[in-house]
Amino acid sequence: MADTLALIGVKGGPAIRPGSHMPTSMLLRMDGRTILIDAGLGVTRGICDQGVPLTAIDLIVITHLHSDHYLDLGAFFHTAWTAGLNRTIPVIGPAGLDDYWAGFQAAMRFDIDLRIRDEGRCDFDSLADIQVIGEEVQFGSVTMRSMRNVHPPITDTFALRFDGAAHSVTLSGDTAYMPEMADFARGSDLLVHEAMLRDGVEALCARMTNGDDRLRTHILRSHTDAADVGRIARDAGVKQLALNHMVPDGDPDFTDQHWQDAVRQHWDGPFFLGKDGMCIPL
Ligand SMILES: [Zn+2]
Ligand SMILES: [Zn+2]
Repeated sequence: MADTLALIGVKGGPAIRPGSHMPTSMLLRMDGRTILIDAGLGVTRGICDQGVPLTAIDLIVITHLHSDHYLDLGAFFHTAWTAGLNRTIPVIGPAGLDDYWAGFQAAMRFDIDLRIRDEGRCDFDSLADIQVIGEEVQFGSVTMRSMRNVHPPITDTFALRFDGAAHSVTLSGDTAYMPEMADFARGSDLLVHEAMLRDGVEALCARMTNGDDRLRTHILRSHTDAADVGRIARDAGVKQLALNHMVPDGDPDFTDQHWQDAVRQHWDGPFFLGKDGMCIPL
């Protein structure tokens, strides 16, 4: 099995509309392990679309507790359970993820108990081993490092770096521009970085009818301009760059060319503009 990183969903934020991409999830295959990073809406379908059985996931990492990164975690487990999952998958994430897991089971209690009784399914609760994320985790030959990123008002929010026997991948998570990301990503075979187009954010917020400025303020102070993403990739000396968690998404006024132009201000290496389902060899 070749080392690859698949972008399952590439849009930033929780809302979807006709024509939009899906919220964030990634599937990393490294040293024979299959690692799911984030579990946004649609993740379960997206894993299958990569040709990967739901029962083949070895590890799950959740970068932070914004819903666009874990809304479908419970749905993934429930669906994998009915597809035959009968072993424990470690789930590493911020403190508080255990509340979600307990709450999901409470919400689905009737169905879970019914299927155990009526269909002979295995125990559900033990399918996930929820662990609080640490600075360094060894998973077979893969080392995962986490770095707190800048995504106010959340403080338990992380960039991740995976180093295997032959390859390394860095994922920015949701973050404002942070020059330290270049050190964290240094020499990676692939950097997947979140990105926004500032003009697109202004257009998006102008269409909102909330009547106040809070969404705009949140987006601008907690995400990274596409031009700065190119700067980070250059400073880090990564081999390839991909964008995900893009804002805006599905606005016909902001085309692939706008993203290309922004990134290319500082980055002239291999570049992937993320699309749902895109699989990048390492
Ligand atoms: Zn997000
Ligand atoms: Zn977020």
